[in-house]
Amino acid sequence: MVVGICKFCGQKKELIESHIIPKVLYKLTELGSVVAVDTKNTRINVNSKEQNGHKEPLMCKECDTAIGSYDGYINKILNIEVPKLTQTKYILTTPCRCLSAEMFDIDRIHRFFISLLWRFSICSKPIPLGKYQDIALKILKNEIPDDYNLFVPLIYRRVTGGHVDNMTGIFRTKYLGKHAYIFRFPGYEVMIVVNTKHSTEPESMAINQRQFTKDEILIIDINYNTPLDYQLVSNLFKCRDNTPGLKRPDGYVPQKPPMFPHSVTLRN
Ligand SMILES: [Zn+2]
Repeated sequence: MVVGICKFCGQKKELIESHIIPKVLYKLTELGSVVAVDTKNTRINVNSKEQNGHKEPLMCKECDTAIGSYDGYINKILNIEVPKLTQTKYILTTPCRCLSAEMFDIDRIHRFFISLLWRFSICSKPIPLGKYQDIALKILKNEIPDDYNLFVPLIYRRVTGGHVDNMTGIFRTKYLGKHAYIFRFPGYEVMIVVNTKHSTEPESMAINQRQFTKDEILIIDINYNTPLDYQLVSNLFKCRDNTPGLKRPDGYVPQKPPMFPHSVTLRN
C-alpha cells in the first residue's frame, strides 16, 4: 500500500496505481499486451511491467475514479462511434468526420484530453506544462471554466493499415509557433496545441481551431505515413536489432515488410 499526497485532491491518502494513458485505449484484447520500446537503452522489453499499460501511484481511489470517468466515454466515441460516421464535412479540401454537439458531449471529450495532458504532467517522467498544469487541474476540478482556446485537441484517425498505427506514446513538439503535445494510441493521433493566442501563423491556427469547437469536432483520416511514423519505425528497428533474442541474424533479408509488435510505448 502506498500512502502519499494525491495529485488531484492534494490530500494524504492511500494511492492507487493509475493508468496515464487509459487502459481501454491500448486495445489489449484486440492487439495483445504492450511491448515497451526503451529508446534510451536501445532495447525492446517484451516482458515489461507495462504489459497492461503504464501505471503509477498518482491519485487516491476517489480521484482516480472521477478522472477515469472520462476514459470510457472517449473509448466509446473514438473506437465505436467515429468509425460509423461518414465524411460529411470539409476543412478546406480535406474531408472530415463530424461529431456534433447535438449528438455528443463535446465538453466531456475536451475534458478528457485536458485530463490526459494533466496526467502526463504529474507522472514520474513528466511532460512540462508550465503554468498550464495548474490551469488544467483547475478546469478539471471545476474551479475555473473550461477554455477551448487554451487546449485544442486536433484529432486524426490513423488508417494507414500499418502496425505503426498501433503505437502508443507522447511527443512534445512545436506547432505554428506554439507548444503542442502529440499523443499516439492505437488508431489515433491527437495533437493538443496549448494556448492558441499569439501563434506565428494565426490564419492557419484559426483553420485548425475549427477542428475542435463547442459545436463540433472534425476528425481527419490519415492514410499515409508521416515523418513521425518514419522516426518511430526507425527507433523501433534500432531497439529491436539491439535486443538479444529479437536481433535479426547477420545477412537476414526480410521477404515481407517486417512485423511490428502489437503495441509499444515510446516517449521522447
Ligand atoms: Zn484524491
